[in-house]
Amino acid sequence: EETSRFQNEPLIDFSLEESRTQMQEALESVADQFGKEYPLLINGRAIDTKATITSRNPSHRSESLGVVSSASADDAIDAIDAARRAFPGWSKTEPQYRSEYLELIAANMRRKRFELAAWMVYECGKPWEEADADVAEAIDFCMYYADQMRKMSEPLHCDVPGEENVYFYRPRGTVAVIAPWNFPLAILTGMTAAALVTGNTVVMKPAEQSSIVAAKLMDLIHESGIPDGVVNFLPGIGEEVGPELVGSPDVEMITFTGSRDVGLSINETASETDIRQKMVKRVIAEMGGKNAIIVDDDADLDEAVLGVIHSAFNYAGQKCSACSRVIVLESIHDTFVKRLVEATKSLKIGPAEEPGTIVGPVIDEDAKQRILEYIEIGKEEATLALACETTDLDEEGYYVGPHIFTDVDSSCQIAVEEIFGPVLAVMKAEDFEEAISIANDTPYALTAGIFSRSPAHLQKAKMELVAGNIYLNRNITGAMVERHPFGGFKMSGIGNKTGGPDYLLQFVVPVNVTENT
Ligand code: NAP
Repeated sequence: EETSRFQNEPLIDFSLEESRTQMQEALESVADQFGKEYPLLINGRAIDTKATITSRNPSHRSESLGVVSSASADDAIDAIDAARRAFPGWSKTEPQYRSEYLELIAANMRRKRFELAAWMVYECGKPWEEADADVAEAIDFCMYYADQMRKMSEPLHCDVPGEENVYFYRPRGTVAVIAPWNFPLAILTGMTAAALVTGNTVVMKPAEQSSIVAAKLMDLIHESGIPDGVVNFLPGIGEEVGPELVGSPDVEMITFTGSRDVGLSINETASETDIRQKMVKRVIAEMGGKNAIIVDDDADLDEAVLGVIHSAFNYAGQKCSACSRVIVLESIHDTFVKRLVEATKSLKIGPAEEPGTIVGPVIDEDAKQRILEYIEIGKEEATLALACETTDLDEEGYYVGPHIFTDVDSSCQIAVEEIFGPVLAVMKAEDFEEAISIANDTPYALTAGIFSRSPAHLQKAKMELVAGNIYLNRNITGAMVERHPFGGFKMSGIGNKTGGPDYLLQFVVPVNVTENT
């Protein structure tokens, strides 16, 4: 059937008292679980390692959430071996059956929806709405890829008299999934689900900062009854287990989402051919952005201010899709900046578990120091128009308030490098032509947006902005599975868009069989 059965998981409405109560209860029950230990899981066996990662709450730096085993290079070899041995069996299962596993995982995520969100609030400093959206997206990935796999499993026939042809897909083999912390459930789930449903086996390496959320996903996968060895859980230090995973002659594919530097190094390492290797490795690397929104001289400024603020400062700017540059037409520049600054001042900064928080903490001390350094650089090269102080929170956690710089030139470091924090560079353009060229003046190509009332300008933006996801008259974050397949190109990565019709194709090899009849 042509029409998709897929529907996006509805978001929780926290304006309802019932939802708020459910979330409070989940936060309390998750807090009762602090201090637990989380082992590796290799071939269905739990393994406690000597080395561990202590997971902390970025909203309250003294609060430790639990202790996660940290894999060694030898554990990585064992995990790869388990995945390799599970491959022949798993790859031969019916695609329909694998889709059902994903739907089962999604059903269990729905059941544990508030609990999973609560873990993200604590472990990654995600405000409620953002944490809930993360769970919803994880569910969407499972449901959407399950559906896509059913479609993909229909072989294509092209018969002529005397000859029958069939075209179909086979899984690749063992996939190393290497994930970031900023969408701790959604991205890890999406990459893992895609590999699984297409018939591959997986070694799952989450980011250190979100190891417990990842352990919760591993529990869901394990509880679904997926056979041992098909998914192996390998939390650990990227620099230690990463090279083992990427360099292994037994890993057919690496699916990475994270920073540009790590992505490029993975791409290089994976291109070296070990003499024991029997294939050319396939790398997906979804990387960073330096995303711009253009504010045209006829834009609805109320909408533009809201869209920019939402894109730049929600989750403290820690999204690959976040807006870090806003390019404003000269004639409205000063009015826009004034309103932007006023509106930004009203954003609620605070611990992520407090309802209504918009700007929570940043992920850890390193991130905070990096962002503060960029703010110092910004003060040298541009004008600081707003610095939201967090003095009363600094003892408590890793807070950085929203910062807005004006008079930012294209060559400024804060206009070029991904800061991954609540720092926004406002740039001035003389005319629309120049605004487009400033927006495109970056090696990244992830998201971009424009606020304008001019159909001609909207059309020009649609055709000329260099980005994978372009948004007209709305915020540039919050891509939804199927409706907004997500991903960039240039230095933002290599790979077909997640949550889109081409994503699963990367995890398979097409085979054509011709029979002389
Ligand atoms: P990151 O530092 O690049 O880490 C990503 C993952 O790579 C982590 O699991 C990390 O492990 C691992 N890693 C580190 N060094 C490695 C190595 N040498 N070999 C193999 N793996 C290694 O990124 P992050 O700070 O977690 O995430 C933020 C970045 O992700 C931003 O740049 C953001 O734009 C990008 N991002 C992109 C997308 C997209 O769809 N394009 C989506 C989300 C995020 P450790 O945690 O142990 O270091």
